[in-house]
Amino acid sequence: MEQTRQAVHLAATVCPFCGVGCGLVVEGENAFPLRYHPITQGSLSIRGWSTGELSRSPLRVKGASVRSPNGSPQPIEISQAIELIVERLQSLRDRYGSEVIGILGSARLTNEENRLIRQLAVALGTPHLDSFQRLGYLPINSVGLGSLEEASTINVLAVDLAHRFPQVFKRVSEALKRGTIVRFFDSRQVQLARMVTGHVRPLPGQELSTFIGTGKEGHGTQNSEEVVLVSSEIALQGQGVKAVEGLQGHKVMFLTDYVNQKGMIDAGVRPFPNGASAYEMLQRALTGDLKALLIFADDPFEFFPELATQAFSQIDFIVVVDSVETQGMKYAHVILPGALLAEKEGTFTNFEGRVQTLEPVTSPSAGLTERQILEGILRLLGETPEVSESEPFSVNSTSIEPDNPTEERPFIVSLDSGTFWNNHALAKASITVWREMRRPFVDFPDGYVIVNPEDARELGIRMFAPVRVESADGEVTLPANIDERAARGTLLVPMFLWEKVGKALGALQFDSSLKIPIFRPTAVKIVK
Ligand code: SF4
Repeated sequence: MEQTRQAVHLAATVCPFCGVGCGLVVEGENAFPLRYHPITQGSLSIRGWSTGELSRSPLRVKGASVRSPNGSPQPIEISQAIELIVERLQSLRDRYGSEVIGILGSARLTNEENRLIRQLAVALGTPHLDSFQRLGYLPINSVGLGSLEEASTINVLAVDLAHRFPQVFKRVSEALKRGTIVRFFDSRQVQLARMVTGHVRPLPGQELSTFIGTGKEGHGTQNSEEVVLVSSEIALQGQGVKAVEGLQGHKVMFLTDYVNQKGMIDAGVRPFPNGASAYEMLQRALTGDLKALLIFADDPFEFFPELATQAFSQIDFIVVVDSVETQGMKYAHVILPGALLAEKEGTFTNFEGRVQTLEPVTSPSAGLTERQILEGILRLLGETPEVSESEPFSVNSTSIEPDNPTEERPFIVSLDSGTFWNNHALAKASITVWREMRRPFVDFPDGYVIVNPEDARELGIRMFAPVRVESADGEVTLPANIDERAARGTLLVPMFLWEKVGKALGALQFDSSLKIPIFRPTAVKIVK
């Protein structure tokens, strides 16, 4: 990156969105792709192009505040806010013990900041450390983008590449043009499905076993020139541990959702052996066992708005540190301003394990980065801030079996992560990305369920008509969005509804190996 920066005379940073890690330069409100960057190679997706908009977003947090007795935020000096945080944490710890404190780190922060967050958990004596941005992460050593150029076959398992990872979609499209065989194992009729050499459409939740089955039939899936491409989508449907085990010996490309998801986890921001996961911390709050929550650039409301609303109203002391406004700030007792990646120094690690160095394009809106805030808290706690290494992340083996359709419930409802970015704090803070994310709500303000057009015709379901979906455990009614994206016999629920629909149908379950909630593909029937 150093060479490139000198060539363009602008500070180089990275796109703050997905874990592919495109390198770019920012000039005012404009971002430009680096031509000679190994990943970017002169192109960005719409999210990358909008990076510059974040610095002047009206949603930037510009100063510290504390909640007054009437609930309104009152400005306070950052140093006073840090003192207040340390006092309150020490007092809660003295009264109830360290285990009432939980900490959420972030894949939007640097490696160094995440190591300090882990040090803070150790200093406070709490095992409850995690991030909602860990959801779906698998401890797989990913091969790099370059391996797509050498591959004779690329197998894409359950990833909507065009929506989720446009830069990788571009590389796979180029491989197709070169004559590489590309097989897509996914029930959805998405953009990639129309281009590939072979589209295999297993039931949702069975992509991995179907792929492994084709290997056993002699299609040579362990060929060293084959690459298997997966993402969090496989883990969020309950196939995570099976993927870690079943893909051993394959060249796997594991695409991470957030810019520094891999770096955050390598830095040790994940539950300690006896600690609660991010999701379990919210549950502990409901029972009064979690009394303080420190949130660094994360927002439980992006994923679990119902649970977070209940939990946050029970927690005695909530601190949110973020560069942009989040929903969690409405409940925070102390808010501190963070900095964007483009405003800080440090390193981050993309999905390939490539560690890239950041240099500030501009100064933080309130003058401090999360690193400086963390160092301030640690010093008041009597700690010397240090960025130490943590042990590797591994998983135990427990498997979650997918549901199969039955005569009584002939459909499988599953998660569609095409709307993954809809609730993301940075996506909301950039007008261009927000516009793109907002699109589905224009027609479907309350959400939708995607029904295959032939299924809809047979059942006499019209566009926008309410559809009642019933599982063995419950039911939910949503407007029909008739689209060939859903295969026959399947229904797709957008990611932003996964808590509501998952709870209603009994599909929201907990993967105790990965310590994450998942949406298990579930057999249902449609009642008009
Ligand atoms: S592919 Fe990912 S890293 Fe690259 S520009 Fe798009 S969102 Fe940013």
